[in-house]
Amino acid sequence: MQRTVTFPAHSISSKVITMENESIVDIFYDAIFDIRKTYALITDTNIARLYKKELSTLPKNFTLITIPAGERSKNFSMIEKLSEKLLKINVGKKDVLVGLGGGVVGDITGLLASLYMRGIPYIHIPTTLLAMCDSSIGGKNGVNTAGGKNLLGTIRQPLATIIQPCFFATLPEKEVRNGLAECIKCAVMMSKKLFTLIEKNHQAILKKDIPLLNTLIAQTRNLKTMIVTGDPDEKSLRKILNYGHTIGHALEKVSVYTIPHGAAIAIGMHLENVVGLNKKIVQKKVVDQVKELLEAVGFQTKLPARTKKTISHYLAHDKKREGTHIPMYLPSRVGSAKLHEIPIHDLQSVLL
Ligand code: ADP
Ligand code: ZN
Repeated sequence: MQRTVTFPAHSISSKVITMENESIVDIFYDAIFDIRKTYALITDTNIARLYKKELSTLPKNFTLITIPAGERSKNFSMIEKLSEKLLKINVGKKDVLVGLGGGVVGDITGLLASLYMRGIPYIHIPTTLLAMCDSSIGGKNGVNTAGGKNLLGTIRQPLATIIQPCFFATLPEKEVRNGLAECIKCAVMMSKKLFTLIEKNHQAILKKDIPLLNTLIAQTRNLKTMIVTGDPDEKSLRKILNYGHTIGHALEKVSVYTIPHGAAIAIGMHLENVVGLNKKIVQKKVVDQVKELLEAVGFQTKLPARTKKTISHYLAHDKKREGTHIPMYLPSRVGSAKLHEIPIHDLQSVLL
């Protein structure tokens, strides 16, 4: 069974296809396949190993390209290496790249698709909850440099994004938790209904109950799509998606990215709420409700002791800084948020 939803405006010609009860091979035959085109399917070593059997039966005009799993693959020399490979297998301007994987594969495929021959079409098949709910929406891609994470990148929409729950079969619980943090973020900022869904069902979600995951993904994707469609250039509304990320990003940097993104933004959401509480713009009830949910899902809400000394420094250099302040959305209640100008020293004071 296949359901197709087309989003207007910013997601121009970017289709979202949600598939049910189909195997991974059906994705290629049913949703993508065009005999006249060459497809370069980029995936990582973990997915290639876990889905070896299925990927060995791909249609003939597909070439599988495997990159090492993990953030370290996200560098510009990988883009160069992959473009050489595309040339070798004769990928032309009308052919298609397919990214099968989590955020790392998505970022690399998206950037490669926007640079190779000045841009060729690509299709996204996210395989982590994080990528399904978050990074595959909005068209952002990027690679890291010595100077920073995602420093080189573009915004380019895929031809289609295919959401296929069969990939949850192999996804470890810690990766589900990682993605759930982004869903909680969207819920606190924009949807009491989603917050309640997660409150009631987090254990079943972590155990990968597919109908619940489908509802969670659909609701979170709708919220994020609404925001990026309304503010493609990150001028105002899109800042709502940064909730938890100001402190979260600083924490990731201090930990040299050993703290997973979801765990870092969970601590970030709680501490940003505490900043709001201190400034009397977030109610105690809201702070407690969010903290309780984050902890029930299995997240820490305290800063790891080893990060306390240096995190202030990273916050002071946040790229969203405007003079002595950072514009930040904080919850006025669960499911609704307001933009505030938060002095950097108020953020630093909750880190002690
Ligand atoms: P994200 O930013 O989406 O968390 P990554 O690309 O860093 O993505 O993926 C996280 C880890 O999960 C990687 O080691 C990746 O190989 C692995 N992975 C991705 N999808 C699956 C899946 N469906 N089953 C098992 N492991 C997966
Ligand atoms: Zn995030």
